[in-house]
Amino acid sequence: MRMMSIASGSSGNCIYIGSDNTHILIDAGVSRKKILEGLAAADLSVNDISAVFVTHEHSDHIKGLGVLTRKDKVPVYSTRGTRDGIFEAGTLGELPGELFRVIEPDSDICIDDLQIHAFRVSHDAKEPVAYTVTCGEKKAGVITDLGYYDDYIVNNLTGSQAMLVEANHDVNLLQENVVFAIDRAGFVPADGETHQGVYDPAFLSQVGMPLYAPSNYAELTYWLHELLKDGCRGPRAIRYPRGGENARLAQYGCSGQDYDFLHRTEGAQAVLISYADEMDDILTACEKLTEHRINCDALKLVKLFPFTEKMIESVKDYKIVLFAEECVEWGSIGEHLAYCLQQAGWNGTFLHAAVHTANLPHATVPQIKQVTGLDADTLAQQVMDAWMKGENIS
Ligand SMILES: [Zn+2]
Repeated sequence: MRMMSIASGSSGNCIYIGSDNTHILIDAGVSRKKILEGLAAADLSVNDISAVFVTHEHSDHIKGLGVLTRKDKVPVYSTRGTRDGIFEAGTLGELPGELFRVIEPDSDICIDDLQIHAFRVSHDAKEPVAYTVTCGEKKAGVITDLGYYDDYIVNNLTGSQAMLVEANHDVNLLQENVVFAIDRAGFVPADGETHQGVYDPAFLSQVGMPLYAPSNYAELTYWLHELLKDGCRGPRAIRYPRGGENARLAQYGCSGQDYDFLHRTEGAQAVLISYADEMDDILTACEKLTEHRINCDALKLVKLFPFTEKMIESVKDYKIVLFAEECVEWGSIGEHLAYCLQQAGWNGTFLHAAVHTANLPHATVPQIKQVTGLDADTLAQQVMDAWMKGENIS
């Protein structure tokens, strides 16, 4: 069984789910062209699609339905309310009514080897539903515009091996002038397995929230006041670690800049980048590399996201970039940076040290750094290995 997002977000939603033999779409909220491109990426064509299941009648979920039904004669399943909503809106032109079929919430429809189950969700539409698709032992769930969840929704999704959940952003929140202060940022392993602050940089940057990570009290004081100023609009976040101030990082004070080079060497071809407490290991790694006659610079970010063009420009000059962070790899700041550098035409060696497991043990910070490869020795070794390969070094 395969599941693939052809499009998601307020500009349009369309999810593909299929077995080896049977293929369906959930929603068709983008153009037919976009759907065909998405299907082509999975080696499929529109002729392979047995049906479209619609979650609700909002245009970002149905935009492509007019053409798909008229031109490709793809049947459409939805609740009665959604079907009425689509026809009443009349935004899709003349629709072949016979292709629009009704599925009752809490019931199943079988299409060849796929069993599609609709269940109710709360959204400002006539009769919105979410779907699970089962094929033999495999089950996948798709929910869009989820405002809240309850036992009913959880029960419906239970047993799914894959899930695509689109949760609503709060429109009011995005207009709100609010500063999120995030405590316990980074590794907090001594308090137990569930206390790690390794998700927020990835999560908040993925929703587009400006994000700051001071690495000492001076920076925390300065940036908190900056973020609270009247000129700032919209939500923004500032994160600070648990426990006291790192003595070494305290010495650097606060420059008031989005980023600072803490260590610079003439002609360095490698740069080690991080933020917050992890900078301590970066500085130690730099010392180790200097002992091995590898000149490198250390760059500390305070503003993690979004990046400034100036920062990207200064990083582009290096042949080797190591980005280390106490953050899960998926969606992390390092991934954003790798993407931005690539977009900027950079083709050096990018090394990313981040958390590769979602399940960190109860331990001390130094132990966790070793487990995750974020200790100074491992960081220095990574750069040394890349240096030895030397392919990118002129
Ligand atoms: Zn909607």
